This record gives sequence, C-alpha cells and structure tokens, in this order.
Amino acid sequence: MKTLIIANWKSNPDTSGRAVRLARAIEERIPSSRSLDVVIVPPAPFLLPVKEALHRAKLGAQNSFWAEGGPYTGEISWRQLREIGARYVIVGHSERKIWSGETEEMINKKARALVEHGMTPVLCVGERERGDEAPAVVGGQLKNALRGIRKNLLKHVVVTYEPVWAISTMPGAEPDTPENVFRMSLYLRRVLAGLYGYTAARHVRFIYGGSVTAATISGFLKEGAMGGALVGGASLRPKEFEKILLAAAGHSD
Ligand code: PEP
Repeated sequence: MKTLIIANWKSNPDTSGRAVRLARAIEERIPSSRSLDVVIVPPAPFLLPVKEALHRAKLGAQNSFWAEGGPYTGEISWRQLREIGARYVIVGHSERKIWSGETEEMINKKARALVEHGMTPVLCVGERERGDEAPAVVGGQLKNALRGIRKNLLKHVVVTYEPVWAISTMPGAEPDTPENVFRMSLYLRRVLAGLYGYTAARHVRFIYGGSVTAATISGFLKEGAMGGALVGGASLRPKEFEKILLAAAGHSD
C-alpha cells in the first residue's frame, strides 16, 4: 500500500492566487517516489484553480453532502465533487463537529454516499480529551460512521485517527506519541475485524492526524503503525511539507 499524505488546508489561504501559488510550491517539492500518494485539500472555492496547478498530487475536498443534488442550499454534493475530479473527501473532521454541528448520523450518511459512488472518504475519528476511555470512544465513532457500508467497499475508506487534543490549533496541543498511535491503530483494526473480518480489515488504510511535522512523522509510520498522515498547519508551509513528504517517501520505498 502506498503511503498517503493529505494536506488539509482548512479555511486557508484567503485568495485564489495564494492557493494556486501554494499548490505549485507543494507540487514542485513532491519527491519522485512511486509509493507515495499526495492529496491536496483546499477550501471549496479554490478547488478548480488548485486542480489546474496539480499534476502529481490528487485533489480532495473538505466536506460533501450525501444527496446527489437538489434542494440543499449551501451544500456541495459528492456528485459535483466527483465531476471536478476530487475523489478524496474528508468526513467527520472534529472542526466540522464543533463549528457546524455535524453529528455521527450525518457523518455516516456522508461516508456511505461517498463509497457507494466510487469516492474515498477520509474518515476522521478521535477523542476530545486524553484518557482511558479513548479507545471505546473512538471505536464507537468508527462503528457509527461505517454503519451500512458493505464489506466489499470497506477498502475504499481511509480511517484517520486524529485525537482532537493533538490538533495544532488546540490550546496546549502536542502530537500523540507513536506508542499510543500504534496501540490505537491495533485497537481500531480489531474493531474493524469484529465488524468485517480480518481479511477485509487488513486492506483498510489508516493514517494519523494531529500536529504532524517533519520531526514527528517518522514515528507514526514506523513499523507500519500508520499508512500516512493528515497534515493541517504544516501543509501550509511548503518547505516543512516537503520534509514530511521526504520522510514519508523514505518509509515507503
Ligand atoms: C487537522 O486538523 O486535520 C490537522 C491534521 O491539523 P494539524 O496538523 O494542524 O494538527
């Protein structure tokens, strides 16, 4: 499986010109490795101009609606995203839960609609607070998000373990430790195996998100704990992001 690095720009930058310049700066820094997948996820208004600037990186979106289209003011449907070539869509990011009231039921509908129509949900799960109950909380989120998704489609889901407290913009944030992330990845794989069986669970790509930098990425990829990373803040800094990509390429080759 290729190592997957996803750049989540969130609501940055502020102009189309800056978004295109950032995309170009990243694009020219992508190492030539056949075992690395890079996905750039700009804000919705810049999807098309950014797409034009991408040749090796793929395009992703930060959100999508479960219906194909219709009377849903303000929503962007999976079909519209698919039409413009955005195959990856972040689903269930904690910032959408906090700022847009996204519920587990909505997350499930979005994830299902995406996989059922040939797209890849980048499904985010993660506990808000550190603590012993984290595995149960995160395992519950995963089960709810996958409800109704058929076994043959499971391999198209990317599971992102992203503890909310580790996201760089949270007060006092620091990345989770590779040991915790490794433990959580084992636990979540067991949850998946319980739902779908071990063979299906083995084909699911797991990535980690939360204050990933060039200095920390290797720890998360070590021993195959995680198959990649969702990168927020550091993906807005091309030189830092390049170092992340280089480290990731070193793990995959
Ligand atoms: C994120 O919120 O998806 C994220 C990974 O952010 P950061 O890397 O800035 O912690």
